[in-house]
Amino acid sequence: MSTSSPYLGRLAPSPTGFLHLGHARTFCVAAQRAATAGGRLLFRNDDLDTARVRPEFVTAMLEDLRWLGLSWEEPVITQSQRLPVYRAALEKLHAAGLIFPCHRSRRDVQEAATAPHEGGDDEPVYPVHFRPPAGEPLPPLGDTIACNWRFRVPEDETVAFTDGHFGPRQAVAGRDFGDFLVWRKDNVPSYQLACAADDAAMGITEVVRGADLIPSTFRQILLLRALGATVPDYYHCPLVLDDHGERLAKRHDALAIRTLRTQGVTPAEIIAKFSA
Ligand code: GLU
Repeated sequence: MSTSSPYLGRLAPSPTGFLHLGHARTFCVAAQRAATAGGRLLFRNDDLDTARVRPEFVTAMLEDLRWLGLSWEEPVITQSQRLPVYRAALEKLHAAGLIFPCHRSRRDVQEAATAPHEGGDDEPVYPVHFRPPAGEPLPPLGDTIACNWRFRVPEDETVAFTDGHFGPRQAVAGRDFGDFLVWRKDNVPSYQLACAADDAAMGITEVVRGADLIPSTFRQILLLRALGATVPDYYHCPLVLDDHGERLAKRHDALAIRTLRTQGVTPAEIIAKFSA
């Protein structure tokens, strides 16, 4: 799992809203871990969700993180400019017969799916009987993808990793999570595929991100293995909760870095809040 290459980390925010205290904490931890390891840090702009991404959020996330005192290597890597990397990964999975086209609606899946086991995530487990038989020849991908493609998870396989913060974690494929999307019918790669393909292509040695993404890590480990890539180390940061014990979301404007900045709060005061 761990690699002997020099430390290479990344900050990978999505420009779908203003960054809040939770992001600030995660990204400060990421920067600290890279600095302690004497390593490098890249910045990836996760802008594939075109319905929610806004250019002003791209500018704001860069400005807010610089204001906090963070720095990274230029140039910023922008996912929407890297579609050929994701397409190449998809083609590799297709050639290996590890994906299948899915014509079921989200509703079909929700109605027929089983709930994930405890420790799984919120996404319903894709019903096995919706899959085409294993070994059946796949239709070609086509230049423009017009249906969903899913990764066929290895049923009953335990996927495990040792988190740098939370320790040993494991999930059982097909029970805690099911066949997941790798490419969407609007011809956009899924977060799971884009993230795994980028972590592999960029040679990331440690992924530092919020604990809400632990369920994604199991999926990404499967993708990285299927792509023949080295699996990085993972360090998930505990989520910052609001006064009601709810996890922060981008709609929590009161705790947006931007709001705090305009109220005259200093970066040092924000960083001090993490341990409060
Ligand atoms: N862009 C993702 C997010 O903000 C994080 C991706 C990652 O770190 O893997 O939730």
